[in-house]
Amino acid sequence: MKHFDAIIIGTGQAGPPLAARFAAAAQTVAIIERHKFGGTCVNTGCTPTKTMVASAYAAHVARRGGEYGFAIQGDVRVDMKRVKARKDAVSGRSNRGVEEWVRGLKNCTVLQGHARFQSSNTVVVNDEVLQADKIFINVGGRASIPEMPGIHDVPFLTNSSMMDVDFLPEHLVVVGGSYVGLEFGQMYRRFGSEVTIVEMGPRLIGREDEDVSQAVRDILENEGIRIRTNAKCISLAKRDGRIAVQVQCDEDPPEVLGTHVLLAVGRTPNTHDLGLDRAGVATDQRGYIIIDDQLQTNVRGIWALGDCNGHGAFTHTSYNDYEIVAANLLDADHRRVSDRIQAYALFIDPPLGRCGMTDAEIRKSGCSALTAKYPMIRVSRAFEKGETQGFIKICVDAETKQILGAAILGTGGDEAVHVLLDIMYAKVPYTVIQRAMHIHPTVAEYLPTVLSKLEPFK
Ligand SMILES: Cc1cc2nc3c(=O)[nH]c(=O)nc-3n(C[C@H](O)[C@H](O)[C@H](O)COP(=O)(O)OP(=O)(O)OC[C@H]3O[C@@H](n4cnc5c(N)ncnc54)[C@H](O)[C@@H]3O)c2cc1C
Repeated sequence: MKHFDAIIIGTGQAGPPLAARFAAAAQTVAIIERHKFGGTCVNTGCTPTKTMVASAYAAHVARRGGEYGFAIQGDVRVDMKRVKARKDAVSGRSNRGVEEWVRGLKNCTVLQGHARFQSSNTVVVNDEVLQADKIFINVGGRASIPEMPGIHDVPFLTNSSMMDVDFLPEHLVVVGGSYVGLEFGQMYRRFGSEVTIVEMGPRLIGREDEDVSQAVRDILENEGIRIRTNAKCISLAKRDGRIAVQVQCDEDPPEVLGTHVLLAVGRTPNTHDLGLDRAGVATDQRGYIIIDDQLQTNVRGIWALGDCNGHGAFTHTSYNDYEIVAANLLDADHRRVSDRIQAYALFIDPPLGRCGMTDAEIRKSGCSALTAKYPMIRVSRAFEKGETQGFIKICVDAETKQILGAAILGTGGDEAVHVLLDIMYAKVPYTVIQRAMHIHPTVAEYLPTVLSKLEPFK
């Protein structure tokens, strides 16, 4: 049995930086990875998809060349092999970077293989038993495969297998109208596929505000993406060399015939094959590891970070988990999960930047709020760029004047939202933004203007 000060299972967004901190503090660490270094973000999530979103954006702008004063001879055609090669190069660079980083750490042992708990302080990898008083789980998640009728009769794609696609699907049917599905849907439409998005719920990205969902739907439909909502009972079948996605919709027809199907219906934590029962670590009904405010599980000495704890499904939430654990264990800084403010982006084009509460959450909180909404068409930077879809919406607390939540759907929305997020962390009133001098022409310079239009929240 080999003893370490700390064992880290998984090299997602929290594991490697945590290994580096322990190693730098002269503690011995073992970090274990069963598949690709860097996990989801680097290999099948953020990095490859945003690289492909960039290719899709370039094709989209090229098709609009006439509006900007240039002409392209013939049709804009996308070479999917080259798109994939570019994506592989960007993603591969990050993947190699993570591997080289952890392998280069002093005091750190890197093991490749599947890790499984043997007890609350031992882990088995490739028949080797490792022991530590501190064990950190950063095992992430994978695409959920729902038990829908016909699922085993047809080939289907997930965000992982999409990474190997080097051809243009003639008609891609995306099952799931949420973040992952919308990003893939728009990018493939821009690459040249016919795209239909099938969503069970009454609207796309159902946890967003209704006006955000509707504006996103308009953006996608303007590009020729077909959207079927209220598709409550989805089933799959082979039909004439194609895949029939049967949808029981209020709208007709009841079936969508595509050449390829992408399942984007949520994520499942990688906790079923970890031997958690042997360690006594508790999970909830969906398999997420239950943690306290400092990410410790019900078993003393075992922590869970990243997507597997169900307290975030983003790279930045996983990295923030690392920061909280490192602060508590190494810096005597008692940071907590509950201190963080919700923030994320949907990387369609134009993007949606979000921070704080949604309208529904504000309503539920019962606080007295003010709100303002401003169309991107009146933001000069957006107008100059010819990218005027979307809006800025901000809600503030009527008494404290602190920002409660915001949505910036529009060009630069993923960046500009950070102005509001940082003001929220500073816990200062929104009037601070109105007294700052901002740079022209930017989206952020309009935030004071939007805030001058606050009216009672209904
Ligand atoms: C298509 C897509 C796009 C996304 N885009 C964004 C985005 O733009 N922005 C954003 O913030 N987030 C995005 N996300 C989410 C983001 O990728 C994840 O939240 C992020 O990767 C955090 O993951 P993690 O640290 O929890 O673990 P992961 O990155 O999932 O890594 C877990 C690692 O653990 C390994 N592992 C699992 N079990 C074991 C075991 N038993 N033994 C050894 N190793 C094991 C796995 O092989 C994996 O490498 C996206 C996700 C998807 C699917």
